[in-house]
Amino acid sequence: CGIVGFIGREEAAPILLDGLARLEYRGYDSAGIAVYGAKEGLQVVKAKGRLRVLDDIVAGGKTIHGHMGLGHTRWATHGEPSDVNSHPHVSEDGRIAVVHNGIIENYVEIKEFLQAQGVHFASETDTEVVAQLLEYYYKDGQDDLLGAVVKVLHRIQGAYAFGIICADRPDELIAARKDSPLILGYGKGFHFLASDVTAVIKYTREVSYLDDGDIAVLTADGIQVYDALLQPVEKERCHVDWEI
Ligand code: GLU
Repeated sequence: CGIVGFIGREEAAPILLDGLARLEYRGYDSAGIAVYGAKEGLQVVKAKGRLRVLDDIVAGGKTIHGHMGLGHTRWATHGEPSDVNSHPHVSEDGRIAVVHNGIIENYVEIKEFLQAQGVHFASETDTEVVAQLLEYYYKDGQDDLLGAVVKVLHRIQGAYAFGIICADRPDELIAARKDSPLILGYGKGFHFLASDVTAVIKYTREVSYLDDGDIAVLTADGIQVYDALLQPVEKERCHVDWEI
């Protein structure tokens, strides 16, 4: 339902929780964050219920450290609202975390394919297949993370906005969309991805809107957007001047 991602030099967790609070108005049944810290590795906290529940677990973000991460508020479509079905979803080896808005129509077929390869699933969601399929393509070593993302996008059908992080790539966040909104937020030394401008305008009013098929790689210092064939594309930036 709601997505926010941050990469920069400040602690990510409080910024992600703040972004999720600004997306609360859209409604949700569970919430979660994943933050990568150099010492801590990938830390994932997610829970069914109000954002307050999550906020209490992570003491307003103070117990989780790192400068990049993802947050999600879920409106369940596949798999009941529960702690384990909440996003972010993490691949079996714990390296790749994914948040998703939308529906993966062919998830059963992909899940059965991966299970036949010995992959174990933790949740009943459609989204988890994306984390597991990413790991499947990524760990054979033929593809870097971006290459694995492109392969996954070719394999899945449905509507999606994704935020993706990988513990091996602590300096980048990946965003991709089709039929579900996703925006980029530009700051000095930090960048955002989000499903909705309201999640970021406390921090920046310089945004761009991803189009269907776009894939973006965000670092603290820049953003590169590609089309579905990985050709670089220029995005028009807009200044958001409405008040919140
Ligand atoms: N289909 C996904 C799920 O049920 C994402 C739902 C959403 O957009 O929040 O977990």
